[in-house]
Amino acid sequence: MWDAQLERAITLTQQARRIHVFTGAGMSAESGLDTYRDAQTGVWSNVDPQAMASIDAWAKDPEPMWAWYLWRARLASEAEPNAGHRAIAAWQQLPQVDEVIVTTQNIDDLHERGGSSHVTHLHGSLFRFRCTICSRPWKAPIDYPDQPVERLTPPTCPLCHNPIRPGVVWFGEPLPNHDWQRAESAMTNCDVLIIVGTSGVVYPAAGLPRLAAALGTPIIEISPEPTELSDIATLSWRSTAATALPQLVDSLAGLT
Ligand SMILES: [Zn+2]
Repeated sequence: MWDAQLERAITLTQQARRIHVFTGAGMSAESGLDTYRDAQTGVWSNVDPQAMASIDAWAKDPEPMWAWYLWRARLASEAEPNAGHRAIAAWQQLPQVDEVIVTTQNIDDLHERGGSSHVTHLHGSLFRFRCTICSRPWKAPIDYPDQPVERLTPPTCPLCHNPIRPGVVWFGEPLPNHDWQRAESAMTNCDVLIIVGTSGVVYPAAGLPRLAAALGTPIIEISPEPTELSDIATLSWRSTAATALPQLVDSLAGLT
């Protein structure tokens, strides 16, 4: 079966040694994680997800938020990487490739569990915790609830006795500087950029692909629908991660 989009994607990637993959919510949706919506059930059916992602709400009453993020961590820990995650990991094994760097806006660990070695989390991680005030990382295990519950009490920092918080970036908070630098570097040092499953509306992350575009780097967008980043894409491949990426990587493997 001849597929014009696949053919074009092969042409744009077959010489690339440094691949940068930039992923968003659509990547995890195919593993059954629907960002906020999956947690909006039961005790949280009327919750506004935005209200669960602000430092002001946390300062006022951390317990509902702690319970909500631990439940999301439980759901994410039970989700499985999909064929798209595994294809990205397989790409780094091809002999013609030097590196495959992943920059994700997702806060789950599906890229890591799918086998990718270089993953930057622009918006933090559900599985990292730190002190609200002194930022000391929390190293002890955290028990995730088996069922959604309305409130849980976060542990307190052994150093300053303030509550431990989820290691995710909330509205109005700056992105982690180190991760941002890595993402910028990957954007400006790749031979091809693959944008997967992101609508391109959440800034500042959505501005990053424009760094690659400004350098004339070929860009492949994989998304079922047009997005805010379609205008900079060399190829807009109207498909999904779990469908398109295995086709592409299998084809590239066949060329070696
Ligand atoms: Zn502390």
